[in-house]
Amino acid sequence: MSNHKKLADFRADIDKCVKCGACQAQCAVYKTIKRESTVARGKIAIANALLDKDLPLDKRFVLDMSQCLLCGSCFDKCPNLVPTDQIVMAARREIAERKGLSTFGKAITSVIKRPKLMNTLAKSSDHFGGILFKKIPDHSGLRLRFPLPFITTDRSIPDFTPTPFRERYPQPIGGNTDKPTLSFFTGCMINYTYPEVGEALVKVVRFMGFPLIIPQDQGCCGLPALAAGDEKTVDQLADANVTAFSCNGQNDVVIVTACASCYSGIGERYRAMGKDYAQMGDKVVDILKFLADNGLVEKLQQLPRWKETKRVTYHDPCHLRTQGITTEPRAILSALPNVNFVEMEGADKCCGLGGTFSVYHYDTSREIGKRKADGIAASNADLVASACPGCMMQLQDSINHAKLPQQVCHVLELVADCLPDS
Ligand code: SF4
Ligand code: SF4
Repeated sequence: MSNHKKLADFRADIDKCVKCGACQAQCAVYKTIKRESTVARGKIAIANALLDKDLPLDKRFVLDMSQCLLCGSCFDKCPNLVPTDQIVMAARREIAERKGLSTFGKAITSVIKRPKLMNTLAKSSDHFGGILFKKIPDHSGLRLRFPLPFITTDRSIPDFTPTPFRERYPQPIGGNTDKPTLSFFTGCMINYTYPEVGEALVKVVRFMGFPLIIPQDQGCCGLPALAAGDEKTVDQLADANVTAFSCNGQNDVVIVTACASCYSGIGERYRAMGKDYAQMGDKVVDILKFLADNGLVEKLQQLPRWKETKRVTYHDPCHLRTQGITTEPRAILSALPNVNFVEMEGADKCCGLGGTFSVYHYDTSREIGKRKADGIAASNADLVASACPGCMMQLQDSINHAKLPQQVCHVLELVADCLPDS
């Protein structure tokens, strides 16, 4: 039996769309492409027509359903709370079931379900990275020396670590025994490309005195497979993660994420997959929310203010914004002794990554990223902080294309920077 709803199961939600058009102004894709089929109202009409057999499942349908960032901005402003992102994901599952996965869908899902292969690829980047990639002068990141399938040579991507983050912490890290144990779901990007975010988490959690474990058998959260419509891979990964995070039946364990996409992938999505997965999903908390709720802001406010401060702005990852986590990262940044926090225009707007969206529609993704870069430039910030490695990659790419001086970092890195070394 499938753990995922079919497109037909969304019939009642589809019927709730009154075609008011309030979603139009929210959709970054529509703002760029200006075609009705890209906006929520259009996608819902197309999904309805497919269910009524008024429309074939053809190339046009596949293209229209691929042109969605799954950002949830339309849902935020929809008077009838029509869950367009979920309808689009169900449509993609329908496409995968009837037509098979796309070439990229097959490639990405075959890699993410093989952690050993991912480890080997990351480690071999140390040997072959110089042949494939070149460092971008004056900016962080790498670019391909020659185009590869799905990645263009003008796309900035982060460096790979030869020592995946999880391998660095095979043993539990002690803390105060009267505090709950945190179990860290690292996600693929922190494990392979942003280990510094994981290191920052370890330092901050140690400072706060929470015991920490990093389950070694965890895998990808499954979000790339979900976005591609591959429900079997989502289930396979979810089963492995539920086993890895069973924590010997310990109920007081809090599962923390430092990646907004993983937070959605193992939290919100697992809760929608039935009881067995919901038990894990219910324990998932974003690390910034957890730390803010457990006294980090007050502790930071007690630190002596630095003479030199940096101007820092914040980008809201869609997967935190849609879950109402917007004030906690800002409260943490505002409390840092070496930071002058400033808001930027469009902080709550999607960066344009949208997972597979930026692979299939890189030109549109870049256009959306350009608007973000304009907001960053106008903020005059030195640094752009965020809470999602995917957003960090996209923001740095947009900054590099706009030839701006700013660097992108995770909020946790800024917190770790102002704490004493233990
Ligand atoms: S805002 Fe909601 S109800 Fe209105 S057109 Fe968009 S999806 Fe339909
Ligand atoms: S989820 Fe985002 S990209 Fe997709 S239709 Fe809604 S606003 Fe547009």
